[in-house]
Amino acid sequence: MAAAPQRKRLLRDEDMTKVEFETSEEVDVTPTFDTMGLREDLLRGIYAYGFEKPSAIQQRAIKQIIKGRDVIAQSQSGTGKTATFCVSVLQCLDIQVRETQALILAPTRELAGQIQKVLLALGDYMNVQCHTCIGGTNVGEDIRKLDYGQHVVAGTPGRVFDMIRRRSLRTRAIKMLVLDEADEMLNKGESEPAVIFCNTKRKVDWLTEKMREANFTVSSMHGDMPQKERESIMKEFRSGASRVLISTDVWARGLDVPQVSLIINYDLPNNRELYIHRIGRSGRYGRKGVAINFVKNDDIRILRDIEQYYSTQIDEMPMNGTHTHTHTSIWVFFYSILHIFVLSIFCL
Ligand code: ADP
Ligand code: MG
Repeated sequence: MAAAPQRKRLLRDEDMTKVEFETSEEVDVTPTFDTMGLREDLLRGIYAYGFEKPSAIQQRAIKQIIKGRDVIAQSQSGTGKTATFCVSVLQCLDIQVRETQALILAPTRELAGQIQKVLLALGDYMNVQCHTCIGGTNVGEDIRKLDYGQHVVAGTPGRVFDMIRRRSLRTRAIKMLVLDEADEMLNKGESEPAVIFCNTKRKVDWLTEKMREANFTVSSMHGDMPQKERESIMKEFRSGASRVLISTDVWARGLDVPQVSLIINYDLPNNRELYIHRIGRSGRYGRKGVAINFVKNDDIRILRDIEQYYSTQIDEMPMNGTHTHTHTSIWVFFYSILHIFVLSIFCL
């Protein structure tokens, strides 16, 4: 069955006028596309796409981007931001040069695909080459398309990075970098929540203090606390007010705990049943979770015992693994207090 054709939604007039705006210095309003100084073939594409008049954000941002200013454009969803940078990117391309001149990063594959569609539609009379580099697609095809030469690449960070590393995506001619939905992009990873386990209350207190000194917002909990206090700490953690919980094994049993994406065993647990209790908290509901153990030499024996008992494999952590990218600040912190550490990883 063919998918229903996507109907193009256009902004209504009142969406464009009834707005309040705060801008930085020297940002003037350009009320028509005609007076933005856009190239003829782009202007044709804009009108052919059905845009008659620039939206409020377009009236302010396009000119600034084209001038080469670094711009942050913030407005409600559906007010024309994506179209803003698409028009601006197209205006700045030298079509004769078959090199990637603009790189657009988006938080999801779908959005990257939408951006490509808008770019190709608005640039319909420009002969623009635009490719999406997103996960879950054929790498060979990406390489072939990039070899052919793409003026614009829109993609998600993982695949784009991969293509840059392989030198298939050449960056030397890039003059524009766009982060669409930048709040979402910059949020990614750092926020999923993490729990750090220590074996003693003393260590919990010590690590909590260290992490707070390093400006992390952390909650901490141990067995000596009255139940009421424990519950209120869990509430704080669940609400997202703190993204890291440092705890002894009290946490592992019987509390209503949220989904966590990362478990760190600062100390390996004293017995193998506790290990499963701890890591069982991550990666529930079919989501992927990661448990990382800090392992000293004397601990290796315990780790091998856990491995054997649960017929699983716990590998040494590759330092270029995704979790080291996504929780960067935590790794920097641990590296600074431990100097050298051996990590092992267990993917659920
Ligand atoms: P945002 O990125 O702010 O969520 P989009 O750029 O995706 O907004 O635009 C939202 C919708 O409005 C899209 O369907 C787009 O085609 C349409 N649109 C954008 N700019 C205009 C315009 N100047 N005139 C008419 N429709 C527009
Ligand atoms: Mg958008």
